Amino acid sequence: MTTDTDLDAMLAQLPQRSTRECFAEIEAARRTEMARPPVRTIIPEPELPPLWPHPDSGTVRFRCALGPATCLWAYEHSIYDDDTEPLSVPLSADTGEIGRLLTERAERRSTELRARVEQAVRDHFAQAHPGQSIPERTV
Ligand SMILES: [Zn+2]
Repeated sequence: MTTDTDLDAMLAQLPQRSTRECFAEIEAARRTEMARPPVRTIIPEPELPPLWPHPDSGTVRFRCALGPATCLWAYEHSIYDDDTEPLSVPLSADTGEIGRLLTERAERRSTELRARVEQAVRDHFAQAHPGQSIPERTV
């Protein structure tokens, strides 16, 4: 319970799932991920940011795949600046439609970020490491 009675009323309307149901959902997601064919990417492993209030919080770094002994370049992405797009939800939307809208927005943002990082990596290799193939990794 919270001190906000409106919030308590809304929380009471949410479906109450058992621990077994939650575990089954997590297990199904894990199996789906294990069955996914591997994908090759030129996007380096992201370096996740420290938590707020650290001055670098919110900045994800994709360092040059050649490593710090060879190159110190990194593409920096601010997750705080990335989430400024408003989300319009019709007042009549049910939880399924809200979930669909959030999923569509997340997939669109993910696709855009992937394209930005890939282009930054290609531009970096063209300028700093001309003629060298861009290392790939499997995800
Ligand atoms: Zn480099």
